[in-house]
Amino acid sequence: MTKTRARLTITIDGTAGSGKSTLGSLLAARLGYLFVDTGAFYRALTLAALRAQVSLDNGPALAALADTLDIHIAPPTAADGRQYTLWLGTEDVTWEIRSQAVDAGVSPVAAQPAARAALLPLQQRLARQKGVVMAGRDIGTVVCPEAEVKVFLTADLETRTRRRRQELTDRGSNASSTEIAENLAARDRLDSSRDTAPLAQPPDAIVLDTSQLSLEQEAAIVLSKVAAIRGELTVQ
Ligand code: C5P
Repeated sequence: MTKTRARLTITIDGTAGSGKSTLGSLLAARLGYLFVDTGAFYRALTLAALRAQVSLDNGPALAALADTLDIHIAPPTAADGRQYTLWLGTEDVTWEIRSQAVDAGVSPVAAQPAARAALLPLQQRLARQKGVVMAGRDIGTVVCPEAEVKVFLTADLETRTRRRRQELTDRGSNASSTEIAENLAARDRLDSSRDTAPLAQPPDAIVLDTSQLSLEQEAAIVLSKVAAIRGELTVQ
């Protein structure tokens, strides 16, 4: 008798800089799943809007722009610290979408219902593939409420600022801790208070405070839940 291990969908939502991509890419590597960072999609749309001089609060114009974009996420194509490669057409924009200009513009873009609606089908198509770890703000609540495993990450602002500063320093950018903390806090405020698909904790999520846990501890908690569910779902 052969046993097939069920492939699951794992969602990771949480505040800016709470460690969603770090945990998500580790889980995906351990499980042989695809890691999808949906923040990268909102960032790619923001980058395209800045380039095309589309106003960041013009929902219909953002949606029209999104419809012309070919956004594609793939496993890392370079060993430069990236957790995935993000393509805008044939252009690798993995690092450009993490610029301070995009940091500043992305939450206003993501607050536009029309922009969110334009990016939803891509996310739902990827979520349906199974064997996916998907990170964002509304993944367990709106994009994929049927996911088998949901995680919600928090961390104190000081820890999140320190991590983000290290990440920027590693890439040769020198934003101050004050600027970084202000951007993280402002994005959380806007992301939590918008009307459409706000940042919210799914009622059935595993909640982890990543300022209190090591990455290995976080992964072990999620992987034990995955193992328990796979045990129940194992097909004989
Ligand atoms: O995850 P990251 O910090 O890169 O996300 C950038 C921004 O994209 C967030 O601050 C939020 O405004 C938006 N976002 C969203 N919904 C998601 C993922 C990201 O609104 N599912």
